[in-house]
Amino acid sequence: MIAGLHRPTQIRVQLQQIKKNAQVVAASLPAGTQVFAVVKANAYGHGAVAVAKELATQVDGFCVSNFDEALELRQAGLEHPILVLGLVPVTHVPLAIQMSVSLTVSHLDWFAEAKKQGIDLANLALHLKVDTGMGRLGFGDLPSLLSAIEEIKEVGARFEGLFTHFATADQADDSYFQRQLARFKGLLADLPTLPRLIHASNSAAALWHREAHFNMVRLGDVLYGLNPSGRELPLLDGIEPALELTSELVQVKSYFKGESIGYGATYQSLEDEYIGTVPIGYADGLLRSMQGFSVLVEGKPCPIVGRVSMDQVTIRLPHLYPVGTTVTLLGQDGGETITAQDWADYQGTINYEVVCLLSDRLPRYYD
Ligand SMILES: *Cc1c(COP(=O)(O)O)cnc(C)c1O
Repeated sequence: MIAGLHRPTQIRVQLQQIKKNAQVVAASLPAGTQVFAVVKANAYGHGAVAVAKELATQVDGFCVSNFDEALELRQAGLEHPILVLGLVPVTHVPLAIQMSVSLTVSHLDWFAEAKKQGIDLANLALHLKVDTGMGRLGFGDLPSLLSAIEEIKEVGARFEGLFTHFATADQADDSYFQRQLARFKGLLADLPTLPRLIHASNSAAALWHREAHFNMVRLGDVLYGLNPSGRELPLLDGIEPALELTSELVQVKSYFKGESIGYGATYQSLEDEYIGTVPIGYADGLLRSMQGFSVLVEGKPCPIVGRVSMDQVTIRLPHLYPVGTTVTLLGQDGGETITAQDWADYQGTINYEVVCLLSDRLPRYYD
């Protein structure tokens, strides 16, 4: 989707704030812990290249979800270690080696497939992923993990890392977390050789489980000032959101009581009132379920009335405002703030989903 550069709807990202968030978390970690910034999904909607460049002097590497996200960083000139957390088809191994991108392997079939296709794995940097209870990707038992380590040796690849991923590190109840951690530690103890990097912590574990840091953490959500637990566990002081989403009133009309607004005529004006049209809709990531949510106009909450359309929403204004007045959908205006967590609560989802769904149609500007 092409970015709407000529429409007054935009994202502004305070890169300094992301830098500060990274500093605050890094300062809380034991000395020597490597920090990899997770910039998958366009850095959770914040802009992967801009975020990675800003963090370049501060982090030890980057994690992404797929190979294209790794290539994007390389093409932007970033020379840090990059780990792809998802599985990459063996056909792309030659390019991964050429681009010095580390890949994740989570089952033995991957090696078998490489063999079948005659792919040379020599010098490929690999992290083996262990499934300790997430139930998604990963070696599930010691024998298969040992076989994978053998395979790595045989084909001349580099055994660079070993990792797992927690399912419940963001919850106050840590019983399941502790079971996963014990399982991971048990496997580590049974391995003949350990790679250079051992990692298990996402943002939540990095924040709330010191015992799981090993020698590297993978920080995503918290870098963007978001709380992985929603509102359940406290963030460190100084961690704040870095993304603002604003638009403008492009039309303001007065309606008599009882007139209908929007698709489906789901809203009738409650009295004589002013309705403003704002050029942002579900194609931008402002989902239809946001009908009724309040956005800010000159520091005053104004509800989205009528359906959210693909490209527009209509909001009820307390009085007449001129066309061109700023509308804040995420961020601060006057004494009021709207956060991704507020959107998430309203939609019954998590802040991750809110920022990831801010579409490419929204131009990103950086302060
Ligand atoms: C996305 C992801 C992370 C980062 O998670 P946050 O909760 O955003 O910190 C870490 N590890 C893996 C394997 C991931 O997929």
